Amino acid sequence: MNWFDSHCHLQRYLNKGILVDVLDRAKKNKVIRMTTVGTSPEDWSIYQNLSLKYKETVFYTAGLHPCYVNSNFEKEIEQMEDLFESNHPPVAVGEVGLDYFHLPNDKPLADQIMKTQKKAFTQQVAMALKFDLPLVIHSRGAFEDCMKILDLAQANWGKVLFHCFSEGEKQMQQLKERGGRASFTGNLTYKKNVCVREAMKLQGVESLILETDSPYLSPVPKRGKENEPSNLALIGEYTATFFGVEKKDVAYRSFLNANSFYGLEPR
Ligand SMILES: [Zn+2]
Ligand SMILES: [Zn+2]
Repeated sequence: MNWFDSHCHLQRYLNKGILVDVLDRAKKNKVIRMTTVGTSPEDWSIYQNLSLKYKETVFYTAGLHPCYVNSNFEKEIEQMEDLFESNHPPVAVGEVGLDYFHLPNDKPLADQIMKTQKKAFTQQVAMALKFDLPLVIHSRGAFEDCMKILDLAQANWGKVLFHCFSEGEKQMQQLKERGGRASFTGNLTYKKNVCVREAMKLQGVESLILETDSPYLSPVPKRGKENEPSNLALIGEYTATFFGVEKKDVAYRSFLNANSFYGLEPR
C-alpha cells in the first residue's frame, strides 16, 4: 500500500531544516511520492533542485499563485517558461487560478487585483496548452470565474485539477460534465464541511486524488498543528471509512490517479 501526496509545499520544512525528517516520516507512513507545488519565482528553482535530489519521490510544478500575482507578473511568467524548456521541467503548470478570499475592502483596488489575477491566470492556462501539461487550479471564492476562463481558453479538461476542492455537488457536477477533476485535502475531515464530502462522493472513489496541501490544513486529529505529507495516510484512512471501502483500495486508486494526472510511471 503506497500513497501519493499530490499537492504539498516543502519550502517551509527546508527553511526550518527539518525536510529530511519530514521526508522520513512520509516514507514510514508509505507516502512514497509527493508533488511540491510552486507558487512564485521564489520557490520554483528550489523545487526543481529538490526534485532532482529526491528523484522518484519528489516531483515539482511551477506556477504563479493568484496571491503572488503583482504588477511584474508578465516578466515572471516569461521566467517560468524557461523552466518548462529546461532539462528538468515541472510536471504541471500550477498552482494558478483566482483567490477572492484575501481581497482588500477598497472596491476599486479589489477590482484591479481581480483583473490582474484573471490576466495572469489566462496566460498560464495558455502556457499549459502550449506545453501540453496538466494544470493545477487554486480557486478560492472564485469557482465561476475560474470555469469561465478555462472554458474561454478551451482548456484540455482531462488535464485540469481543482486542488483543495471546497465547493459542493453543483460545482462538482459542472467540473465532471467537462471531464475535469478535483483533489481533496484534510479539510474533508472537518465536521462542518458536509458539502465537500458530498462533492467527493459525487466524483466517486474511482476518480479519487488526495493531497495534504501541507504545511496547511492538517486533518483531524492533527488539526491545528503543522501539516506534513506523512498525514496523507490519515486523510486516506478517513476517506476509506467515508466510502466504506478498504484503505488499500483508496491508496491504490488515488496513487494511480495522481500518477496518471501528472503523467508519471507508477512504481
Ligand atoms: Zn491552493
Ligand atoms: Zn497549495
